Amino acid sequence: MTVHLLGIDGMDRARIEELLELTDTFDEIGRRPIPRVPALRGKTVATLFFEDSTRTRLSFDAAAKRLSADTLNFAAGASSLSKGESLRDTVDVIASYGVDALVVRHPMAGTPHRIADWTDAAVVNAGDGRHEHPTQALLDAYTLRQHRGALDGMQVAIVGDIRHSRVARSNVLAFSMLGADVTLVAPATLLPDSVAGWPVRVVHDLDAVLPGLDACYLLRMQRERITEGLIPSIREYVAGYGLDAGRAARLPKDALILHPGPTNRGVEISAEVAADPRSVILDQVVNGVSVRMAVLFLLLGSGLDHEPAADGEVAE
Ligand code: ASP
Repeated sequence: MTVHLLGIDGMDRARIEELLELTDTFDEIGRRPIPRVPALRGKTVATLFFEDSTRTRLSFDAAAKRLSADTLNFAAGASSLSKGESLRDTVDVIASYGVDALVVRHPMAGTPHRIADWTDAAVVNAGDGRHEHPTQALLDAYTLRQHRGALDGMQVAIVGDIRHSRVARSNVLAFSMLGADVTLVAPATLLPDSVAGWPVRVVHDLDAVLPGLDACYLLRMQRERITEGLIPSIREYVAGYGLDAGRAARLPKDALILHPGPTNRGVEISAEVAADPRSVILDQVVNGVSVRMAVLFLLLGSGLDHEPAADGEVAE
């Protein structure tokens, strides 16, 4: 049976921890002078991006190459989609090249799930609309774990445009499964219509929560998904929710500052705070490759029963 990674929803703590432990192995491989292992030699990984991306697409590509897989890259803007080719035809064409994994980003929620029904390849959701972005949540959980050992009992705030954020949805699920207490901080208009059933506390006042946080996770304002006037102005949003140096000074000295990128400097985070020693934004980027290696390896390699050898080498 083909195994996919379509969301954090459907995973459990044990599965997430297994992935994070495996990521340690790939993190070590990434630090070697030649960061490449033959684990997925002969496999082909295709990235299918119907929405722009820098980090996610490049890091999946780098992850596949470090595992010695062949890669194919499809970007909607430069394809026959502009000539009217359907999603189904596009997927069939790519699958016919003998692809073992399809890494899919699409502006419409649920598209990776549909594609998983059409193909025998393993499908990885690399962001579907405002629904889920599971590998982002895994790399964020890995980054928190790397700095703190474990997420149990951590006070984590996710701040900003929750309403349009697939990162927020996946992170709420992953962080809380791993034992963190998650607080959503946003104006009412940037929250989803309902958070009933979400394992979170919701507050509107960022300044009130800052001193009690272990980690402050800022979200990008999703201007491409905002169709109504949900905030009076960017200036007013920044006044209430932007993390500038003044606000960062109210965070504990050892708190972590995260952002999934791309950052809108001067909106959700100031340039000064992005460069603060407590900012782990670049660690998130580095960890993105290791986590995606672990995901591809679990889906395409020797699978869930595989144990990497004791010396950290991954067997072919
Ligand atoms: N890169 C993340 C995503 O694709 C976050 C963002 O774009 O704001 O969802």
